[in-house]
Amino acid sequence: MSEKKSQSKAEKLRYQKKTVYEKAGEKIVREAYDYAKGYVEFLNASKTEREAVVEGVRIAESAGYRPWNFGDPMKAGDKFYYNNRGKNLFLFKIGTEPIENGIRITGAHIDSPRLDLKQNPVYEDHDLCFLKTHYYGGIRKYQWLAMPLALHGVVVKQSGEVVNVVIGENEADPVMYITDLLPHLAQSQVTKTVTEAFQGEKLNILVGSRPLEGEEKDAVKLAALNYLYVTYGITEEDLQSAELSVVPAGRARDVGFDRSMICGYGHDDRCCAYPSLTAIIDADETVHTTMCTLVDKEETGSDGVTGAQSGITGDLIDEIARALGGNASAVRANSKCLSSDVSAIYDPNFPDVFEERNAALLGCGVAMSKFTGSRGKSGTSDASAELVAWVRRCLNEAGVVWQTCELGKVDLGGGGTIAKYMANRNIDTVDLGVGVLSMHAPYEVISKVDLYESYRAFRAFYKF
Ligand code: MN
Ligand code: MN
Repeated sequence: MSEKKSQSKAEKLRYQKKTVYEKAGEKIVREAYDYAKGYVEFLNASKTEREAVVEGVRIAESAGYRPWNFGDPMKAGDKFYYNNRGKNLFLFKIGTEPIENGIRITGAHIDSPRLDLKQNPVYEDHDLCFLKTHYYGGIRKYQWLAMPLALHGVVVKQSGEVVNVVIGENEADPVMYITDLLPHLAQSQVTKTVTEAFQGEKLNILVGSRPLEGEEKDAVKLAALNYLYVTYGITEEDLQSAELSVVPAGRARDVGFDRSMICGYGHDDRCCAYPSLTAIIDADETVHTTMCTLVDKEETGSDGVTGAQSGITGDLIDEIARALGGNASAVRANSKCLSSDVSAIYDPNFPDVFEERNAALLGCGVAMSKFTGSRGKSGTSDASAELVAWVRRCLNEAGVVWQTCELGKVDLGGGGTIAKYMANRNIDTVDLGVGVLSMHAPYEVISKVDLYESYRAFRAFYKF
């Protein structure tokens, strides 16, 4: 047997993970770099779930999607979006095949870890004005100190008027800041555990130091309130009916001499939301009914009216089935869902927590997690081998570069996604998404080719 022949036999027998650069080639890499530009714009414009919905609606409308309301008729070829309370968006397109064949669904989330203002946030201490926060989602608290921060969100006045707030994104804007201890005085702090040293109650946002002229008591606080009143027409009581979030200020940037990566705030999970959104729009020729769901509240457990556990997803499927004369239970049973959420990329600086044979590698394409959960697969819906085989065929036939992955070592921890909430509705679901370095940090990193392979994967799935 010649050497060449024995190599090809080895290739046939053995699975070998390869990068997108090796497998897909120059044309796809070029397309990936181009695609990333649109993504970066989306990311910069979408720092909260509300902003992501506004962007999503804009993109959907420009592609011919129209708003849908309960009871509206539907027919093949119709393209609709449903905006659930400004924080959760559905795009769906009615296919030509019978609705009981099921719906091809992707589900990404558009909320990201951040610091939310408390309802009574403003206080003054030693002539400095601060805002109290309650962090949202899983953060490493020390990462948010000593960096420029921006304030995003809404204040809803008693009248119902909604005031949009964004401070800190334009070059001319002021930014906000959380102070950290100088190393000279940190001798005692550095001997503590990270959990002891950094506490949520100390994540107070510095917003002022100059007193309001003519005032004596709490004059710095009054100056801050005066700024909000003059700029936005809001008072301290208005903050009680507000959703204001503190996020990193500034824009996403290319990373690396080769510009192969992007660092930005909120890749988790907008790096899957944007590919889902653009894929459903671009997969226009499919015969299947397709649906892209962008949900809120994933980072806090998917509860509430705008989270993945909300009845709205089931209600929409019911409505679609009814409008097209199908049995909703049959529609669910025959539907398939890609829960499009991020996974952790193997980090050579922290090899101890990863199991490298089953970790996602940067640049090796979109990553599939058959199961999530932690310590004994706890809390996972664990996709069936049949579904994984089906997705595998779909991706391979479309030439998508993909890999399987687990978050980390078996006993070390883990995480969840919206997969189980979709699966609990009797919809076959598996996780497929982009791998992230420094997940949940103020600035996370992804690979442009992984981002593009997720887009190609979702597009193939909608059509397959
Ligand atoms: Mn996520
Ligand atoms: Mn997350």
